[in-house]
Amino acid sequence: MDSSDRQQHSFETRCVHTGVNKDSSYNSVITPIYPSSTFYWDDLDTTKGYDYTRSGNPTRTGLEENIAALEGGVECRATSTGMSAITTVLHLFQPGDHIIAGDDIYGGTYRLFADIFTKMGIEFSFVKMGDAANVQAAVKPNTKCVWIETPSNPLLNLVDIEAVVAVAKEAGAITVADNTFLSPYLQRPLEMGVDIVVHSTTKYLNGHSDVVGGCVVSKSKEHAERVAFTVNALGLACSPFDAWLVLRGIKTLGPRMEAHQRGAMALAEMLDAHDAVEHVYFPGLPSHPQHELAKKQQSGFGAMMSFDVKGGRPAAEHIFETAKLYSLAESLGGVESLFEYPESMSHASMSLEARRVAGITEKTIRISVGIESPDDIVADMKHALDTIG
Ligand SMILES: *Cc1c(COP(=O)(O)O)cnc(C)c1O
Repeated sequence: MDSSDRQQHSFETRCVHTGVNKDSSYNSVITPIYPSSTFYWDDLDTTKGYDYTRSGNPTRTGLEENIAALEGGVECRATSTGMSAITTVLHLFQPGDHIIAGDDIYGGTYRLFADIFTKMGIEFSFVKMGDAANVQAAVKPNTKCVWIETPSNPLLNLVDIEAVVAVAKEAGAITVADNTFLSPYLQRPLEMGVDIVVHSTTKYLNGHSDVVGGCVVSKSKEHAERVAFTVNALGLACSPFDAWLVLRGIKTLGPRMEAHQRGAMALAEMLDAHDAVEHVYFPGLPSHPQHELAKKQQSGFGAMMSFDVKGGRPAAEHIFETAKLYSLAESLGGVESLFEYPESMSHASMSLEARRVAGITEKTIRISVGIESPDDIVADMKHALDTIG
């Protein structure tokens, strides 16, 4: 599909067709994997568009065209991990630049900012981004970027994207959004004024828990060129095989997200009504403090949630041992349901005090709802809750 087709077709159609017509030799319906490190030249001046796979590869290009069309960017670069996508974007900045980020961003992103890029001379302020006024208050003369992640992990706090973009624009800073938790099926930050979107494609975009990968999508040609240069210079691009797997996964993104959301809504309602549950963190519940914002800036509530179980760690342990359809594992966004304990797993690298300030306690359980039958995952979890001693 060329770019004019992209504008005409709906999201689900682009998922299936964009970047997927790469073989004129045998007319394969599926984009082939080109596991070639190098490509031969026809003469001293002529290639067929590729010379070396670190710089470019036809399978990877297929994936990049696909994701760019889904997010509405001019260009996408697919990287080896979500962290390498974020590393790429941080190279747009220089020592002395200041970046504002949420205080509840992904732990790996926090570590990269606080431990690696701080040493390289970039300054960070971590603020409660649920209120755009806190971003405004953190602006300095050298502020060059506002880093948005919404909803947050594990407590599903939202950032008002348009409000934060307005503050950043006023300050002359660009905005970057990590759109991993919702995918472009449910949230498209570039359409709300954000400049660059990053993903861990490990999660919903691939969706099958069998790849780690990432991507950077730019809205402007200028950012796209700098991102392409950086991915090549640092050697952060993903392998042709990983690109092929993610491209395969994305074809079912729409139907998967619908199925994820059906299960999530049913599970959240059961949890919310259960006596053993103290609190449910899910933007789809009308009781979520940012339910209206979720309805405004997302086209669905996603399938990540957390809840606090009465009885703390022993009750949590009972649930992890009793519920059979959920694997006790980190990560998210795959077709199978996972649950995990932020206290000792995903958020163990935070200090105890920082966890408590953020609202993560010994009662908190995070769930990535898969695409199993909602009846089954609800019944399985209800049984675990009903049998807490
Ligand atoms: C997983 C994740 C990342 C990091 O991605 P990797 O593929 O694990 O490197 C970044 N941001 C968010 C929101 C994530 O969930």
